[in-house]
Amino acid sequence: MKMEVRDVVCTVCGCCCDDLIVEVEDNHIRSVRNACALSTSKLMDHRERLKTPMVREGGTLREASLKEALDRAAQILAEARYPLLWGWSLTCNEAVSIGVELAETLGGVIDNNTSICHGPGLIGVHDIGISSSTLGEVKNRADLIVYWGANPVHAHPRHMARYTLMARGRFRRSRRERTLIVVDVRRTDTAKLADLYIQVEPNGDYELLSALRAAVRGEEIEQEDVAGVPIEEIEEMAELMIGCEFGALFYGVGLTMSRGKSRNIDAALSLVRDLNSRTKFIILPMRGHFNVTGANEVTTWLSGYPFGVDYSRGYPYYNPGDTTAIDLLRRGECDAALVVASDPAAHFPASITRKLAEIPVVTLDPHRSTTVEISDVAIPTAIVGVEASGTVYRMDGVPLEAKMLIRPPEGVKTDAEILTSLLEGVKTLRGS
Ligand code: SF4
Repeated sequence: MKMEVRDVVCTVCGCCCDDLIVEVEDNHIRSVRNACALSTSKLMDHRERLKTPMVREGGTLREASLKEALDRAAQILAEARYPLLWGWSLTCNEAVSIGVELAETLGGVIDNNTSICHGPGLIGVHDIGISSSTLGEVKNRADLIVYWGANPVHAHPRHMARYTLMARGRFRRSRRERTLIVVDVRRTDTAKLADLYIQVEPNGDYELLSALRAAVRGEEIEQEDVAGVPIEEIEEMAELMIGCEFGALFYGVGLTMSRGKSRNIDAALSLVRDLNSRTKFIILPMRGHFNVTGANEVTTWLSGYPFGVDYSRGYPYYNPGDTTAIDLLRRGECDAALVVASDPAAHFPASITRKLAEIPVVTLDPHRSTTVEISDVAIPTAIVGVEASGTVYRMDGVPLEAKMLIRPPEGVKTDAEILTSLLEGVKTLRGS
């Protein structure tokens, strides 16, 4: 029987577009409307699926029953002195919340992908605070859009159509009513659409932001250029920012991960704060994974901190650069890892992946990822937003309900179900 499911939330990037229309027939997705190419491929192409639990024996992975895999995983975690619980941005809030309880029970560290992407942005917010809004406000009101170190044409393909440049808002209805500024080290496909493109020197963001702040305050800059940008262009950008009615600055990892890191974000947040004494301006990060914002929110509700939370002292302790995954693994301090909905072996530096491969690893993932290949236990899970429902947070902090569209493969459970079983198993083994 054919069925059309409307208002489907896409669980790929942080835009969490909630207007997809999916046609389902005989437990297969037949077609998807309103989706970009990234989304269509996630919804329609399920190759490389992990369907059977695996355990390592004699150096190789072999198929196992779910009970055997869960028992072995619980034993690895229960015996660990200082386990790392990593991932969480490609699953739902319900799973993250069980993950935090598991980290507390184990006295381990729970860290999410934020520590390798937008961590400096969150640290900047701790320092300065943030003038923010929903993407709906941007769509309805913004007449000036700035993308800084972000290339949504490729990374967030519908961001400009749904929320910014081309969005049909209540008060701004077309591209003609909006101005686009792009700041980047190279002329990206997003920059090609800009009314003003500012080419900043690599690692020159902090200097450029500081010069912009000076220009916005009307101070004279006694140089011909800053970070490779002529003063006339800096003044033109400052005038456009001061002169708009509602400006929105979106920043990507091109800003959070260039030299200066959290200081870049301090400067960007301060620039927006300065602008708010002249006009209305907001700033938002372009979050990558669909629920990395949820991983931050849920971890913050439960521990007070958004990522890199260490429970080994018996209370939550947070010190990015110390209690974050790359640092812990580099120092060889963790003696086991639980990886949930993430593929660190494919994305961490090779030296850190080698460290990860030296300790017992339990992986929960819908796919046979690179991390599965170095794991001691791998348990397949249902794909959130396709085979499992759950709550997620869009990049602007708006919660949305991801739907279950089709049933998962026979015997495959959700992240939340597997984590609940692991938590029970760990409590039993530890007698807590
Ligand atoms: S822009 Fe992102 S959330 Fe929207 S449909 Fe594409 S991948 Fe999905």
